Amino acid sequence: MASRPTINFTKLDGLVPCIVQDTRTRRVLMLGFMNQEAYDKTVRDKRVTFFSRSKQRLWTKGETSGNFLELDEILLDCDQDTVLIKATPKGPACHTGADTCFQETNDHPFDVHTLEAIIHDRKANPRKGSYTNTLLDLGINKVAQKVGEEAVELIIEAKDNNKDLFLGEASDLLYHYLVLLTAKGYTLEDVLSVLKKRHQK
Ligand code: AMP
Ligand code: ZN
Ligand code: ZN
Ligand code: ZN
Repeated sequence: MASRPTINFTKLDGLVPCIVQDTRTRRVLMLGFMNQEAYDKTVRDKRVTFFSRSKQRLWTKGETSGNFLELDEILLDCDQDTVLIKATPKGPACHTGADTCFQETNDHPFDVHTLEAIIHDRKANPRKGSYTNTLLDLGINKVAQKVGEEAVELIIEAKDNNKDLFLGEASDLLYHYLVLLTAKGYTLEDVLSVLKKRHQK
């Protein structure tokens, strides 16, 4: 077996920079530094621990907030002086309450798959105060009923000529539709493969 490349902490003055990426959504969550001890603890506990330069001690992300970063995978870069950590966050990664320390601006690419990934992530890692989790907790029948309600609201707005209200209801329907698929354990991929077969006929 090939030996795993190791980090040269000596060359790095004892601290290696670590980029943390959300395994599911692939968003960059935060940057921290690890010394050998923090790195070993992260591997051992499967929870991301840094060496805090401000606190000058080991800092397990989430130790007070509960928003731990559950370790999925560790990758080293080409010359072993930077770490990429893939992790599943148990809550907002940033101390401001934002999902990530690198808040995306509105012109950042956002598509229906991004939205679906966020909904799937809420199902796998429920969060307090999440509307998606409130919906999912109500059960499939209630979610399906919500889809029906949003469809009716869209029908009503389709008769009027208010752009904002129409697009608002169109968004509500798409979102609740994705939540229903998620609640049923299906994905947009499943729907698209049905549509693809029809298209090929
Ligand atoms: P936590 O590790 O989430 O329990 O937060 C404990 C403390 O660590 C917070 O009060 C902040 O001072 C700091 N902190 C938490 N998250 C971050 C972050 N993403 N970047 C920098 N400092 C943080
Ligand atoms: Zn490098
Ligand atoms: Zn932050
Ligand atoms: Zn609505």
